[in-house]
Amino acid sequence: MSAETMSIDSQRGTSSLRLSLLAFVLTFLTGLLSLGLTRHLSHLNPIWWSNGVLLAAVLAARKRAWPMLLAAGGVAILLAHVIVVHTFGLAVALIDLCNLLEVLVAAWVLRVWMGESFDLRGAEKLWRFVLTAVLIAPSISGVFASLLHHYLQGIPFLQAMMQWYFADALGVATATPVAFALYRGQVRDIWRKDTSRQNIPLLLLLTLATVVCFLQPSVAFLFLLFPALLVVAVQTGWTGSGAGVLLIALIAVILTGLGYGPMASLEGVSLRIKTVDLQLFLASCSICGTIVSAIFEERRKLLKLAVENERRFRSLAESSPDVMVLTDLAGRRLYVSSAAKTLLGWSPKELLGKTYQSNIVHSDDVPALEEALSDVRRTGEGRTLTYRCQHKDGSYLWVEASLMLYRDMQSHDPIGFVNVVRDITSRKAAEERMQTAYLELQALAEIDALTGVANRRHFDKVLDAEWKRAIRTGAPTALLLIDVDWFKNYNDIYGHLEGDVCLRSIATWISVCIHRSTDLVARFGGEEFALILPDTDEAGAAALGERIREEIEARKVVHRGNEYGHITISAGCASLMPMRGTSGTLLIDAADKALYRAKSSGRNRVMRASDEQEPRIGGAEDTVSST
Ligand code: GH3
Ligand code: MG
Ligand code: MG
Repeated sequence: MSAETMSIDSQRGTSSLRLSLLAFVLTFLTGLLSLGLTRHLSHLNPIWWSNGVLLAAVLAARKRAWPMLLAAGGVAILLAHVIVVHTFGLAVALIDLCNLLEVLVAAWVLRVWMGESFDLRGAEKLWRFVLTAVLIAPSISGVFASLLHHYLQGIPFLQAMMQWYFADALGVATATPVAFALYRGQVRDIWRKDTSRQNIPLLLLLTLATVVCFLQPSVAFLFLLFPALLVVAVQTGWTGSGAGVLLIALIAVILTGLGYGPMASLEGVSLRIKTVDLQLFLASCSICGTIVSAIFEERRKLLKLAVENERRFRSLAESSPDVMVLTDLAGRRLYVSSAAKTLLGWSPKELLGKTYQSNIVHSDDVPALEEALSDVRRTGEGRTLTYRCQHKDGSYLWVEASLMLYRDMQSHDPIGFVNVVRDITSRKAAEERMQTAYLELQALAEIDALTGVANRRHFDKVLDAEWKRAIRTGAPTALLLIDVDWFKNYNDIYGHLEGDVCLRSIATWISVCIHRSTDLVARFGGEEFALILPDTDEAGAAALGERIREEIEARKVVHRGNEYGHITISAGCASLMPMRGTSGTLLIDAADKALYRAKSSGRNRVMRASDEQEPRIGGAEDTVSST
């Protein structure tokens, strides 16, 4: 065994000993009081507290200490009996055992039912206590004790049983809660600095009222004690109410025993009836005090829980960098977390009571927000939305809002919205940068790296789209195919790099001839270019081809491998009315054939697909025939 365990055990040992001593003293004193009153004063024993105070001690202790406690209690009751009655014998010892049996039954059942942490705060716990310690245990002990009284003293069984049961049940009901609080040190609650100012005067007032009521003979005054007890129960809580009931019981029993008060003054009534009347009065006090204080204790617990929950959730909301907003269904803000100051520069106070329409949300975004809110309300499902919020300095920042429905806890009806707002300005900027990069990349993917005009992939895409559009509109689409003459020779003579420079220049010269934004210049492959010309007939395409041919020839770029002495191009053009079920390859084929004829008939010329004539070298008028 470690030193630590030993010290804990020895501490428990001392506390068990202290508890046993206290239990012994209280059991003895209460026994003395009850027996003394019965024996020497009025022969009236309405209440037996000893079992109640002993039971409280047993419930406050660990099971290991029970034998010591029961022994202490047993001896205390015996001692009280010997002192008051001056007799000791088998009957006294057996009655003593009945008392211990009652305590043991109640303690054992309650320990099994409620565990080591015995507590009466709560309706269910209270009910278990009443059932076990007030109803069942005194009945069981009562059967044995009454049999003893019947056989040893000749008292009728039922009479003995009634007397035993009511005295014990009342004793347990009034003494156990207060004695338990005393053993556990909870009685100090009454004297606590913050509550003693109201608790002590209330208890003193109750004591005074009880003394006054039991010093005068009228029963009617007793009713005044109930409201007084209720005030004590509501104001002082569980322990105060228990103490109040015990005070009433003590004063009532002592003064009645001394011959004072309404019960003692009843005329023509037997002692038994007087006893029962007093018992009924005390039982009513006990029931009243217990029920009211149990209800208020439950309320206090709920309130504490609600306050604690509210504090917990508020600190959660306040510690979040996101702004938490609670609005009613009209969008009026009921709560705004302090993050609003950091994020938007507005203090929560400045935002409370106002709606999103009246400030903060960008006016362009209000319709989207309203639509989202009505969506959330209609479907009951959460939604995320991005919009612009105005900072106090006037600037706008992008936020992402998570919108949820806020429902009434009991009816579950929607009563507002929860809006969690997060700054996404930097995310939005990153998204915009990505979008720009994507567009740039897309543009790059459509451009031929060497010449800067559209690449073949883009050409195919545009031709397909134009072809389909023309099918719908019924307009002609033309294609111009351009091929640099004897370009292989150019590379061979001037080198491949010079060839690249030349191709780049040709692409530029072609592009300057284009005036319509819908026309597309593309590199078709190698030293070939293709022009898609929407809404253009063959004559128009041929005219453009001729303009390009002239533009390039006019540059007079020296090319020794070309029989004209400078760079020239040949072109073939075609224009078709696209029909359903056909594709742009028809147009390419037609233009390609025309180009082939331009090559075979001497190069440096433009030929039309529909041109049957052999072209001659020279101007557009001579070489091109219009459709
Ligand atoms: P023609 O068209 O008049 O019949 O003669 P050509 O010499 O142009 O004929 P061909 O189509 O056989 O040759 C095309 C040449 O274009 C072959 C290649 O050296 C050149 N060429 C194709 N692509 C490029 C390129 O990207 N850069 C350079 N420098 N040359 C290229
Ligand atoms: Mg070629
Ligand atoms: Mg060529």
